[in-house]
Amino acid sequence: MAVFLPFVAFVAAITLLWSHEVDATDLSIFAFFYLLVGFGITIGYHRLFTHRSFAAVRPLQIVLAILGSMAAQGPVVEWVADHRKHHAHTDEEGDPHSPHVGHGTGLRGLVHAHVGWLFRTQGLADRRQYARDMREDPAMRRISRLFALWVALGLALPALAGFVLHGYTTDGALRGLLWGGLVRVFLLHHITWSINSVCHFAGRRRFEVDDHSTNVAWLALPSLGEAWHHNHHAFPRSHRHGLGRFEPDPSALVIRGLQAVGLAHEVVVIPPERQRAKLVGQGRPEPLGEARAA
Ligand SMILES: [Zn+2]
Ligand SMILES: [Zn+2]
Repeated sequence: MAVFLPFVAFVAAITLLWSHEVDATDLSIFAFFYLLVGFGITIGYHRLFTHRSFAAVRPLQIVLAILGSMAAQGPVVEWVADHRKHHAHTDEEGDPHSPHVGHGTGLRGLVHAHVGWLFRTQGLADRRQYARDMREDPAMRRISRLFALWVALGLALPALAGFVLHGYTTDGALRGLLWGGLVRVFLLHHITWSINSVCHFAGRRRFEVDDHSTNVAWLALPSLGEAWHHNHHAFPRSHRHGLGRFEPDPSALVIRGLQAVGLAHEVVVIPPERQRAKLVGQGRPEPLGEARAA
C-alpha cells in the first residue's frame, strides 16, 4: 500500500501536469516538503542516527527523527538497523538489499535491491545487534512506535498548506495532499531506493573498498548528496559524501549550516591525506568501476 498508493498518485499528477492543471503554488509545496522530509532521511535517519557523522542538540534530533518518519520508509529504529546491516555485509550474504546477492547480478538483482527487498528483508535486521543505541533512547523508541502518526502528519501538513495557499478551498487541500504528500513520498521513495540499487550497480569508483558501491553524478542533487555512495562506503562516518570539488552535497552543506548556528557539533571530517591513502592505484579508478561505468 505504502508503495502503490504514491505510484497511483504520481500517475495522476503527471496527467495533471500534462493538462496544465498545476501551478507554482503546487510545485512550491512539493519542493518545500521534498527538501524538508528528504533532509529528514539524509541528515537525520542516515548521517546522524545510522552513522553518527555529527552530534545534534536534543530538539534537532527529535525534529529530524519525525521528519524522516514522514518519508514513509519505515520507523527510525528499524531503518537504522537495516542500514547498519547493509554496511556490515555490503554486497555479500546478509545484505538486506544488494543487487549482487541471491537474485543474480543482472536486472533481477537490480529490481530486488530497488523494491523487491521491501517485501523480503525490510525491517528484519536484529535491532538489538544493529541499533542498540537507538533502542536504549526512550524518545527514539517512542517516535518509532508512533510511525503511522508521522506518516499521516506528512500528508496532513501539505494538505493544510494547499488549503491555505489556494484560498481556503477543498480543491486546494487535495492539491497540497497530492503534490506535497503523495507525489513527494513517491519520488523520495524511488530516489532513496536508487541509492540501494543503482549506486551498487553502475557508476564510478575510486577508493579501495571491497564492495560494488558507486558514485552516480546524475542522482547527486535529487538525492541531496547521497548518490556519492561509493565515497560513503569508503568513509561511512564522513558528514560529507561528496568528497570531491565537483561533487555537490546539499545535505553536507545543511549540516555545516547547523554547526554554524550551534545546533550540530562534532562534525566528522575526513582529512585529504586519509582520502588519498585509500585511492586505488594512485587515483586510477578501479577496473570494476570502469567496466560498469554508466
Ligand atoms: Zn550501500
Ligand atoms: Zn550509510
